[in-house]
Amino acid sequence: MCASALAFGCFRANLAVTKDQPAVAITMDDFQWNKSVKLSPKERNRAILEALRSRGDLKAALFVACRNLENDEGMTLLREWDRAGHLIGNHSFSHKYLNNGKVTPEVFDADIIKCEALIKDLPRFQKLFRFPYLKEGETAAKRDAVRTFLKENGYRTGHVTIDASDWAIDDRLSARLAKDQLADTKKYRDFYLGHMWERALYYDGLAREVLGRSVQHTVLVHFNLLNALFLGDLLDMFRSKGWKLIDAVEAFKDPVFSAEPRIVPAGESIVWALAKETGKFDKLLRYPGEDSEYEDAKMNKLGL
Ligand SMILES: [Zn+2]
Repeated sequence: MCASALAFGCFRANLAVTKDQPAVAITMDDFQWNKSVKLSPKERNRAILEALRSRGDLKAALFVACRNLENDEGMTLLREWDRAGHLIGNHSFSHKYLNNGKVTPEVFDADIIKCEALIKDLPRFQKLFRFPYLKEGETAAKRDAVRTFLKENGYRTGHVTIDASDWAIDDRLSARLAKDQLADTKKYRDFYLGHMWERALYYDGLAREVLGRSVQHTVLVHFNLLNALFLGDLLDMFRSKGWKLIDAVEAFKDPVFSAEPRIVPAGESIVWALAKETGKFDKLLRYPGEDSEYEDAKMNKLGL
């Protein structure tokens, strides 16, 4: 008998009982394409798109920080996503940290509109907004002001359910390959897959505790070298564990994405935020939900 569904080893039992197969969609943030360690921007873009295409023509959501579209090359690369049928969402122009006291709702809102102007004509653009750093305001007034602005402008929040720190692993992988292009990448891959699986189990377990069911998950990853090399392996891992890969448009139909948890500071994974709002799961909730600080010691130990 499991004391808590979140205890290690209890997930399989829970899955067997509920019988619902977890489903997950890929949501990729930032579109920071202008790096060229190991692979050129074009090669990175192609590798990520090919990983999705070759896994059942899976359609992801790409949340673009539009400062990455200031030159023609960025827009050319983005059009490949649009043509391939992936959802294009708004991640603001300059990727501001909303929970910083200096960022007012007015400044933040203007940054959303500035991004929209650059992507609104792409056929696959949808009014889905993803908060940079998953930070939705450090006061109730600010949180509610931005929520109202989004609604008045026809936006829904493109929440993450499974948050993770792929970017921290990419930092180390990219630094290593910048020094030695031929360095062995397998241990970075293995750590990445292990990390993502651990976080997937945590957030799926939390959803079952809080909502009494699994949700149509949206996992957060970033446009980076790590995913140019290993996104395909990540998708294969989810499938090999019995999870279903679904299109992002499909995932966002889950009613969990309409929730508006009234917590401050607001943000993090929507599952995390709903758990926080109940006040019943504080022992399972660290803040922030994810960060490099939780992974650094493990990566140090492995020599990553
Ligand atoms: Zn971001």
